[in-house]
Amino acid sequence: MHSTDQSAGLSLQDIEPFDRSIIAAVEKAETLWRMLQTVPNFTPELRQKALEGLRLTLEELQVAHEELQVQQEALIEKHDQMVLSYQRYQDLFEFSPEGALVTDGSGVILAVNQAMAHLIGVPQRWLEGKPLATFVPLDQRGPFRHWLNQVRQGAHTNRRETYLQRRDRACLPVTLSVRRCQAPYENELWWAVQDRRDRHTAEIAIQAAQQQLEQKVQERTAALTQANQRLEAEIKARQQAEQRLEFQAQQERLLQAMAQRIRSSLELDQVLSATVEEIQQLLKVDRVLILRFLADGSKEVATEARTRCCQSLLAQTFREPCLSGQVVAQYGQRGGRAIADILASDLQPCLVETLTLLEVRALLVVPILQEPSPADPAQNDRVWGLLIAHHCHGPRPWPDHEQTLLQRLATQVSIAIQQSALHAETQRLAVVDGLTQVANRRKFDTYLSKMWKQHLRDQTPLALVLADIDFFKLYNDTYGHQSGDRCLRTIADSLKAQIKRPQDLVARYGGEEFAAILPQTSLAGAQFLAATCLTHIQGLNLSHSSSPLRVLTLSFGVASLVPTGDQRVENLVQMADQALYEAKARGRNQVVTWPIDR
Ligand code: GH3
Ligand code: MG
Ligand code: MG
Repeated sequence: MHSTDQSAGLSLQDIEPFDRSIIAAVEKAETLWRMLQTVPNFTPELRQKALEGLRLTLEELQVAHEELQVQQEALIEKHDQMVLSYQRYQDLFEFSPEGALVTDGSGVILAVNQAMAHLIGVPQRWLEGKPLATFVPLDQRGPFRHWLNQVRQGAHTNRRETYLQRRDRACLPVTLSVRRCQAPYENELWWAVQDRRDRHTAEIAIQAAQQQLEQKVQERTAALTQANQRLEAEIKARQQAEQRLEFQAQQERLLQAMAQRIRSSLELDQVLSATVEEIQQLLKVDRVLILRFLADGSKEVATEARTRCCQSLLAQTFREPCLSGQVVAQYGQRGGRAIADILASDLQPCLVETLTLLEVRALLVVPILQEPSPADPAQNDRVWGLLIAHHCHGPRPWPDHEQTLLQRLATQVSIAIQQSALHAETQRLAVVDGLTQVANRRKFDTYLSKMWKQHLRDQTPLALVLADIDFFKLYNDTYGHQSGDRCLRTIADSLKAQIKRPQDLVARYGGEEFAAILPQTSLAGAQFLAATCLTHIQGLNLSHSSSPLRVLTLSFGVASLVPTGDQRVENLVQMADQALYEAKARGRNQVVTWPIDR
């Protein structure tokens, strides 16, 4: 704190006028005195005048002295007030509950109060003479000095939140307020130091509460996000499940429709084309086709369904060596292949090349298997062909349910093929003789009647040959029935080999009797053909020890006529039969024509 010098300065100003008037009065008295001594002839008037002057001067002095005394008393009173005031401010400074200190311009402590000493935890005198910056933690000391510099150069007051280091090394959060002192101490700085510990603790508590709140908000947000994601996933899963169900329903409808179609239609082509159409629509692919493996090793596109944007492959044949029998057999074992992108697959290069030419990027292939024929049940399932879905625009994944669908449909196609084959076989069996594999009697009758009508219309000759094995009863008796059956097959084969025009028909007419219907054939032609057959059989030289001829022979009856309205087909049969009868009568092993030449 500053001394009372300030009050002394004030009093000197105050007493100056009196001082000057006393000096003026003394000077006046001295002048008078000198006048009295230097003037030799003092007249009584002069003396009187000088004494009067002196008396007046003394009076003035008296007045000045009294004034001076009054002023002095006032000054003493003022001084006492100043001392009191100083003491008050000194006490205020000293006992202020907040830290206060005075530093010089560079921050060296000049005075410090108790509170400040208490804050730092050292005696007051220990602080005096030390730079305030010493008590600022090292890491903040640079900025503090910079700030102090600014304060010194510019602003009168300033506030700063910082830390002071206590003697026990603890860091004390404080707010520093600083202002430059007024003249004449303008080079000094007044500091107020506010302990921020309470506020600091509160701030820390608020900060902690805020952090907790933020954490809770974050946790809640995360929980909400998770719940949201779960919900979205659930919705997505439900949508997928719905799509799967819808697809399954469509798939079931498709399979049912196909089964129905297979039941109601024996036309394989219809079944296949409807199948590829429906698959193409259900899978929304660019092309669905059935590639059929032909006996010569080539593959043919049997049917297809496609979008307008891709080229047709219908009826095209492929002979890619990489689709060899071995590779094809693998399809049968592996149950097909799903290729999402041919460019990223292990397909054989030649296949990739072919598919690229066809603009195919992804494909799903399942084999269509054909069950082993009843004639050879030991045989493995044969790959009949492939059911293929093509996607042309780009890669396409093939989900499991799509693969399953295609496999189930391929099974249905297999059933359709099998049914169609069975139907064809049944049809064939209905007209073929089981033992000899030539046409049976029913086929003979219908064909003959059909040809009869046709030849009646066309008025062209229709020939009929009837053939009967000679002494066949004896053959059976000699060699047994099984040998007899074998013999019947040999004869049938022989006849078929000779009578081979597309329109001709060889049939088993009865037990050991055969017949040949020869459209547009004259009697001579038919006779020649019968003779050829006889020669061929004779050439077979089948031994028949019980026959008088020692070998197996046949007798032939041949007839040919241009049908007329008044005739019936039975007439032709009768004629041939009569000729046969004549051949038997003439000793067998010969051809006889009708009309019989007697
Ligand atoms: P012919 O020279 O007069 O014709 O004398 P045949 O013995 O051939 O004539 P027949 O009509 O007396 O006998 C026909 C025989 O043909 C009777 C039967 O044993 C035999 N036969 C008929 N159908 C079959 C058959 O499916 N298998 C076998 N093994 N024999 C048959
Ligand atoms: Mg007979
Ligand atoms: Mg016979």
